[in-house]
Amino acid sequence: MPVRFFYASVVALGMGGEEIALRLKGGRWGWWGKWRRIRRRIPAAVLTVLHHLQSSGYQAYLVGGAPRDLLLGRVPQDWDITTDARPEQVKAVFPRTFPLGEKFGTVGVLLDDTQVEVTTFRQEGGYSDGRRPDWVAFTPAVGDDLARRDFTINAIALDPLGEKLVDPYGGVKDLKQRLVRAVGDPRVRFGEDPLRMLRFYRFQATLGFRGETGTEQGITAGLIGKVSGERLRDELTKILTAAAPALGLEGLARSGLLTVILPEFGPVWPADPALFRHLVATVEAIKPCPELRWAAFLHDLGKVTTRRVAADGRIHYYGHDRVSQELAAAILERLHFPNTSRQKILTLIRWHMFAADPALTDAALRRLVGKVGPEHIFDLLELRRADIVATGSPSYRARESLAFLARRIEALLAGETVLTRKDLAVDGHEVMAFLALPPGPEVGAVLNEIFRWVTEDPARNRKDRILAFLAERYRGH
Ligand code: ATP
Ligand code: MG
Repeated sequence: MPVRFFYASVVALGMGGEEIALRLKGGRWGWWGKWRRIRRRIPAAVLTVLHHLQSSGYQAYLVGGAPRDLLLGRVPQDWDITTDARPEQVKAVFPRTFPLGEKFGTVGVLLDDTQVEVTTFRQEGGYSDGRRPDWVAFTPAVGDDLARRDFTINAIALDPLGEKLVDPYGGVKDLKQRLVRAVGDPRVRFGEDPLRMLRFYRFQATLGFRGETGTEQGITAGLIGKVSGERLRDELTKILTAAAPALGLEGLARSGLLTVILPEFGPVWPADPALFRHLVATVEAIKPCPELRWAAFLHDLGKVTTRRVAADGRIHYYGHDRVSQELAAAILERLHFPNTSRQKILTLIRWHMFAADPALTDAALRRLVGKVGPEHIFDLLELRRADIVATGSPSYRARESLAFLARRIEALLAGETVLTRKDLAVDGHEVMAFLALPPGPEVGAVLNEIFRWVTEDPARNRKDRILAFLAERYRGH
């Protein structure tokens, strides 16, 4: 629903202090029509919790992402309720509650099968550990609670039953102007919790908003070093998987945050803007899955150091896939990626230069799938598709070839004629025993050779045939 509706019809009613309540009036359908449409998009359990709190004499509002998304006509991801009731008072109102960090004022309320989080209005101190506020203090004024929030668009309290908005920082206006603006002095707010600098770009990327200039000027990239790898990872992943990742990634680069968090981008930005644009374009072209987006963003990092100009004047990047994989491995390690995600991202980067030739033989395709793994192969094709699209040159033919390869690989997988090394009918011990080899790299080399031979024709994957092959090859029988 357009914010215009609200904006055009907002009337300020002074409530004293810095709090201003905005009542929605007039408009094409009458204000009650708008509120009714808002209420219809709120789960019944959430409305019931608000109702019970209010009829017990407390204030109760939706806050955070929910009012923002409701006013934008989006579907909120979570429903945060804030109230002047203390945690023990919240527990007295509802028969079924569970603790969710009562020290910070949050109580979980169970209604039917829905969980709703209810948090007491609070003020908070800085985040010297980069994770949790140093202190929190309960307050009876919703305005104090809104003051601790990061951006004006996240600092709106909405009461869908009393049909009231509390918007002391002009969040509705910024929603209308599609602006992300800090609440208060950006330098101070980013100093309190440096993660907010990343959230600033995250909301630009997820909502397609611009960042307010003064807020961006408040960024001090060096402060981000205080934030843990996990929190950086989660916030960067939200930027990468957003609807408009370029808005976030370009902002990260411009502000210097990118190269502080990922120094591996130092030689890319601002030195090689074309390469940076290509990485961002690949992110935009690929499906919005976390691992795919990360692989897209990092896949060509190794191009900077592998760049060579050949005698004929052409530029080559031999081995950049390997170098990119090494740089990406360091990044994913520092950001504490779980093993399975890390493996997937690194595999995709490592093999992104595979020969995508429709004339590949079945044996070559089986080898490719064996090497990359059947669980990653279609994502590898997706990475190549995005890589091609991101070059901006006509790509119809290349994408056709990929689609053709995908169909052939599907057929091979359906026929169970694809093998990975684990599927070989002999293992390293058997090879050592048969060839009287000591443990060492030679065993791996022999297994590789067996693998290549077997993928030529999967019917060869029988122990007797493999041993016969080895006998002929190594023992001259
Ligand atoms: P999402 O749609 O991703 O859930 P959100 O706005 O709900 O977005 P959350 O991280 O769920 O974001 O936080 C809920 C609310 O809490 C925010 O809207 C904001 O008001 C406040 N908030 C969260 N993190 C911070 C922070 N680091 N500093 C200040 N306020 C914050
Ligand atoms: Mg949220």
